[in-house]
Amino acid sequence: MAAHTSPDDPSTKELLRALRVDGSADLDRRDPRETFGWDKEGAAEVFAAEMEALVDLQKRLFADGSNSLLFVLQAMDAAGKDSTIRSVFSGLNPAGVDVNPFGVPTEEERAHDYLWRIHHHAPADGRIGVFNRSHYEDVLVVRVKDLVPAKVWRKRYDHIRNFEQLLTDEGTAVVKVFLQVSRDEQKERFEERLQRPDKRWKFRAGDLDDRALWPAFMEAYTDAIEKTSTDDAPWYVVPADRKWVRNVCIAKILRHHLDEIDPQYPDPEDGLDDIVVV
Ligand code: AMP
Ligand code: MG
Repeated sequence: MAAHTSPDDPSTKELLRALRVDGSADLDRRDPRETFGWDKEGAAEVFAAEMEALVDLQKRLFADGSNSLLFVLQAMDAAGKDSTIRSVFSGLNPAGVDVNPFGVPTEEERAHDYLWRIHHHAPADGRIGVFNRSHYEDVLVVRVKDLVPAKVWRKRYDHIRNFEQLLTDEGTAVVKVFLQVSRDEQKERFEERLQRPDKRWKFRAGDLDDRALWPAFMEAYTDAIEKTSTDDAPWYVVPADRKWVRNVCIAKILRHHLDEIDPQYPDPEDGLDDIVVV
């Protein structure tokens, strides 16, 4: 089924080019409230069509069984990481998707190099892996909060590029998304979290410490994105103040990269045509 797009919609190619970081991340020139010419209804239609295509691609990825896709999701608090996973990835067959959150490292994790806890969760052939936060925290929160000396985190961009190249070379497509929420929208979402009994549990007082460090985080994000966005493992900056825009963007990014893998159903065994099932 073809996606219904209004004449004002950007072509997918143009959209992906706008979202993708090639050189400068331009975080302060991007608008987290961007709509790309969609309205809510139109976006929902496009989203539904994209999901249909994604379901088919995921089936083929699984059946083919020779490649995988790693989707890295990074953002400030309340930017919608959990909601993205719920909205987009829950539409796929859960048997083929592995979602892994990375929080404050445990004592055992801290006693190893920072990629130790990560590599183990890279997706196996045929599967889609989703990282809710990732190894990037080790050049983001770790840098902003001085958790290790600068001479230690500065070397990590090279490690990360090499690590992701290793994954790519071995058959895992690596796709990275920064959900860009505005500081104003984060404030509103925090206030809602504080007010709603069903959302309060998500709020930690520490979230306000990170919010206060916003400019330092944006600097760290800029550096991380610019230093590690490569042809094989690109970063996309997705406007995230409006969930319906965010969802379409993510679905289109995912579809593009699964299309690039171009997974195929394996050839059936010989002689199936002669079989009669009794
Ligand atoms: P949440 O995603 O809201 O559940 O929060 C997870 C928290 O873990 C965030 O505050 C992250 O900054 C923090 N975190 C994740 N990875 C690391 C890391 N490698 N070092 C320190 N803190 C981390
Ligand atoms: Mg949180």
